[in-house]
Amino acid sequence: MDIQALRAFEDNYIWLLRAGRRVVAVDPGDEAPVLDYLAKEDAGLAAILLTHHHGDHTGGVAGLLARHPVPVFGPAGETIAGVTVPLREGDPVALPGFQDHFRVIDVPGHTRGHIAYYGHGALFCGDTLFGCGCGRLFEGTAEQMWTSLCKLAALPADTLVYCAHEYTQSNVRFAAAVEPGNAALLARAGRVAQLRADRQSTVPFTLAEERQTNPFLRSGEAEVTAAAERHCGARLAGAAEVFAVLREWKNDFRQ
Ligand code: ZN
Ligand code: FE
Repeated sequence: MDIQALRAFEDNYIWLLRAGRRVVAVDPGDEAPVLDYLAKEDAGLAAILLTHHHGDHTGGVAGLLARHPVPVFGPAGETIAGVTVPLREGDPVALPGFQDHFRVIDVPGHTRGHIAYYGHGALFCGDTLFGCGCGRLFEGTAEQMWTSLCKLAALPADTLVYCAHEYTQSNVRFAAAVEPGNAALLARAGRVAQLRADRQSTVPFTLAEERQTNPFLRSGEAEVTAAAERHCGARLAGAAEVFAVLREWKNDFRQ
């Protein structure tokens, strides 16, 4: 299985899984780049995977189905037009014509029913975990998002994370405000700046790198806790509370 990125809108990635001439599209917010790719490569669409209901992840479903009547996998906890296979935690995902199987992880927080797909060393996590950051809390609570991020962080360290937005560079600036003394983070900031200067993608990245540099995953670390306590001016009891403060801090952060 081969994984490729298509750009959409300002900063979205539509991930394509490819086996021979079969292609699976993950979170196609726009059908046009997917249809262009299929035509250019003389390939066929085999399925669509959706992580959550937001339009920048689902807007291309109807346009793709009009040309390619394929199964559409999506979260059981959300209502999305076109979904034919509703999924929840632990469900296996067998893609037609693919050897690789995926498994569903429930990751509520950004939205109430958000799911992620994990398999073959790859994680498709939509708007839950980003490079050095995490999604905003539109529907879920900080507690839910913290629990969701902990589930993802517990996957093998060499897991490659395919998130749905190129947000890493601005996330790194916030992370540096939280942990100015984190050497791994400073090194990452340099790599990310170089990649972006060269118009390269910073995605995918490994979970190992996230554990070392993503302040949200590091909510249990002493330095991150101290920074969050300084920011809110109160003592915080535990990583979930630290995470909640970081998430609000980031919402208001101007670089
Ligand atoms: Zn979203
Ligand atoms: Fe999004």
